[in-house]
Amino acid sequence: MYQQVSNIKNLDLKKYCWIGTGGLASNVFIAESELHLSNYLKNKNKKNFFVLGSGSNILFRDKGFSGKLIKLSSKFRGINYSSDKKYLVCGAASLKKELSYFALKNNITGFEFLSCIPGNLAGGVIMNAGCFEHEFSQIIHEIIGYNFNGFKKIIPINKLKFKYRKTNIPKNFVITQIKFKIKKSSYDNVKHKMNNFIKKKTNSQPEKIKTSGSTFLNPSNKVKAWELIKGAGCDKLNFNGAKFSDKHCNFIDNSLNAESKNIEKLISQTIEKVKIKYNIKLRLEIKVIGDK
Ligand SMILES: Cc1cc2nc3c(=O)[nH]c(=O)nc-3n(C[C@H](O)[C@H](O)[C@H](O)COP(=O)(O)OP(=O)(O)OC[C@H]3O[C@@H](n4cnc5c(N)ncnc54)[C@H](O)[C@@H]3O)c2cc1C
Repeated sequence: MYQQVSNIKNLDLKKYCWIGTGGLASNVFIAESELHLSNYLKNKNKKNFFVLGSGSNILFRDKGFSGKLIKLSSKFRGINYSSDKKYLVCGAASLKKELSYFALKNNITGFEFLSCIPGNLAGGVIMNAGCFEHEFSQIIHEIIGYNFNGFKKIIPINKLKFKYRKTNIPKNFVITQIKFKIKKSSYDNVKHKMNNFIKKKTNSQPEKIKTSGSTFLNPSNKVKAWELIKGAGCDKLNFNGAKFSDKHCNFIDNSLNAESKNIEKLISQTIEKVKIKYNIKLRLEIKVIGDK
């Protein structure tokens, strides 16, 4: 049997989040299989776990993370049909993009929007990620995973509740697999829809920068966070390199490698200025993780 090198000390978190911030994680577990994960969870004190996906929605703090960080290895990647061919059964660490291209190749519609969102499938489920009127809630059939006591649980769609960038999946749960519904279409239709989404996304949002995507949630369908940020003059703030993108001011642009503390300052100042100007309290979409 091969030896699993799965407990890592002092992982540089900068390399594990898209925005490129953070200190060291002192206690990292890389799960290589469901059994491996289950055994680990059964043997640990359940406090202070954080499950990391691809880190595209995370801002890690400068002081690092001294809790227990769990990550699924690439062995949790893979996309297959269920035996009755009614569903797609996907490893939680598969990328959204992979699934959208698998769907395209197999003439399946509903997954086109995944071509525009970074990260893995589990991160997308937890965030109920979406764009252009599409979101994960519309395509999921079932979630499979382990609670922090190490026991397997299947959550069917009728037990799941989804809101804007939010689900009722318990915080103490590691998603390992997701089953998606299948709706057939034609290759040309799927390709056309996907190309449209990719074009829209490229036109409106910055690409190839260090960011965590939308920093704040939109307060409502009609009131957009970027409009409030711009209206309150926060699009021009800069704290030692911590600033918003010129292309979309709800995205932080960390090309100047700002420290997290300065990005947190940018965030808190923006909340304050928007509150003063509009009496609206912006709420974070990104998750700020790490020791204070
Ligand atoms: C350039 C850019 C564009 C973006 N565009 C969009 C967009 O259009 N729409 C949108 O909704 N978001 C967008 N985002 C935000 C982000 O990509 C999504 O929220 C994405 O779904 C996060 O996936 P991830 O794998 O990176 O998860 P992470 O950021 O690593 O984690 C997100 C959450 O999921 C949890 N999680 C991850 N894996 C597991 C698991 N296996 N089990 C349990 N919990 C888990 C984490 O604990 C955390 O709470 C964008 C981000 C960037 C950088």
